[in-house]
Amino acid sequence: MDLLDDSVVPEHARSVKQEAREFAAEHIAPNAEEYYDSGDYPWEVLEAGMDAGLVAQDIGEEYGGKGYDLAQILAIAEEFYRADAGIALTLQLASFGCEMVEQYGTDEQKEEYLRPVAENDQISGLGVSEPETGSDLAGMTTTAEKVDGGYEITGEKYWVGNAVEADWLTVYAKTGDGDDRYSNYTLFIVETDSDGYEAEHIPEKMGMRASKQGHIVFDDCFVPEENVVGSEGGGFYVLADFFNHGRIVVGGHGLGLAAAAIEEAEEFVHGRNAFGRTVNEFQAVQHTLSDMRIGFESARALNWRACEKVADNEDAGYWAALAKTKSTEVATDCAEKGMKLHGGRSILTDRRIARVYRDVRIPVIYEGANDIQRNLIYRQSR
Ligand SMILES: Cc1cc2nc3c(=O)[nH]c(=O)nc-3n(C[C@H](O)[C@H](O)[C@H](O)COP(=O)(O)OP(=O)(O)OC[C@H]3O[C@@H](n4cnc5c(N)ncnc54)[C@H](O)[C@@H]3O)c2cc1C
Repeated sequence: MDLLDDSVVPEHARSVKQEAREFAAEHIAPNAEEYYDSGDYPWEVLEAGMDAGLVAQDIGEEYGGKGYDLAQILAIAEEFYRADAGIALTLQLASFGCEMVEQYGTDEQKEEYLRPVAENDQISGLGVSEPETGSDLAGMTTTAEKVDGGYEITGEKYWVGNAVEADWLTVYAKTGDGDDRYSNYTLFIVETDSDGYEAEHIPEKMGMRASKQGHIVFDDCFVPEENVVGSEGGGFYVLADFFNHGRIVVGGHGLGLAAAAIEEAEEFVHGRNAFGRTVNEFQAVQHTLSDMRIGFESARALNWRACEKVADNEDAGYWAALAKTKSTEVATDCAEKGMKLHGGRSILTDRRIARVYRDVRIPVIYEGANDIQRNLIYRQSR
């Protein structure tokens, strides 16, 4: 039975899902182990993804992309993450932050910054988190001070995908000190070759090693006035809206990873013998596999329902948080169970199940840690 079957996927997203599946089988899965081991940035796979028209294509047709909608990006995510989460993250982050420029940016910004990303000549990133603050979006301390003709950014960002590799980033910085702490932030387009921008990779990670995050130090980094995205003071609200879309896709990261864990566990138990039979014949093993399926199917149904709700902007924050939390936690549960079913072989680092086990630790954190999602669910359900 096809775990990621397309019956739950809206019809318009099915063909790109199939393309993503074929691409993942040919380019992502076969390279997963090598890039995990080396921890190198998977430029070759990224370029192949660009050639296949599967990178940065959520950008609208008027700026050179294909205008893929949320359902299409979610469909791609499920397929890519099943094949390998590290490479998948690199492919999907190549246009990170662009959505906000597309929705709130000026025509000039879209021409100058979105088009090269959509045409795969440049890659982008999003710089929000800081060394001392991650969850509290209204507590970030990197500041953008108004100067003649623009702003000077000073401070640090941490965990930023493509901080070293990107051509430009959307950066979230403090521009005010008012009592309403949510209205003190602004988004800026920052070119990574600007004076006062220095980035280096963060230390090696235990999972998703084929994706690269960086630590940025801004030292009076000048950004011209015309690079403000949206309005001064509106950054928090733009970001919150953006995260609703992102969390649906991160749910897809969890679904892909959960599918990988289930596939791997099912294959293993049907080939492994103990007590004169294959281990899948033991009822305890069957029940474990059934529990994995129950979790997976519940998460997938919820995630696709939430996708529709967020696309229609109906209680988007609530549905996005539900989907992100459920799907990423089902992934951790399936990985844990998959490890158990592999016995001693689970801990061999070259096993796919071991890679999945390491990778599932990550989507429960990024795009807002799951405890933060629970805060949002409670608040928005009242
Ligand atoms: C692989 C990876 C890629 C990333 N990519 C990016 C990127 O491209 N750009 C970017 O800006 N950031 C990125 N991040 C950062 C990510 O968004 C943050 O790590 C995340 O928001 C959590 O922030 P933190 O690590 O500072 O945790 P903290 O905020 O320090 O929280 C630690 C823990 O405390 C608990 N906690 C904190 N506050 C609350 C609360 N109010 N209620 C309940 N519990 C709470 C939670 O359990 C939480 O997990 C990435 C992170 C990772 C791991």
